[in-house]
Amino acid sequence: MRIHADRERCIGSGTCVLTLPAVFTQDDEDGLVLVTDDTPGAEHRASVDQAVLACPVSAISVEHGDPR
Ligand code: SF4
Repeated sequence: MRIHADRERCIGSGTCVLTLPAVFTQDDEDGLVLVTDDTPGAEHRASVDQAVLACPVSAISVEHGDPR
């Protein structure tokens, strides 16, 4: 899977970081999302889906399929 986070949409709520800190973090400067691992392993799939659903502004998208 491949993750994309739209920093234009992000409002810095931090929900994704709380849900999956192995993949998401927040920029020290502006508080907006940064993806630290945009091709996480399949073991993170459920948490990624949860983060996508939990984002209040739908800034996170994920393509499932060939991981790399
Ligand atoms: S949950 Fe959405 S709005 Fe909140 S930090 Fe993550 S990407 Fe940004």
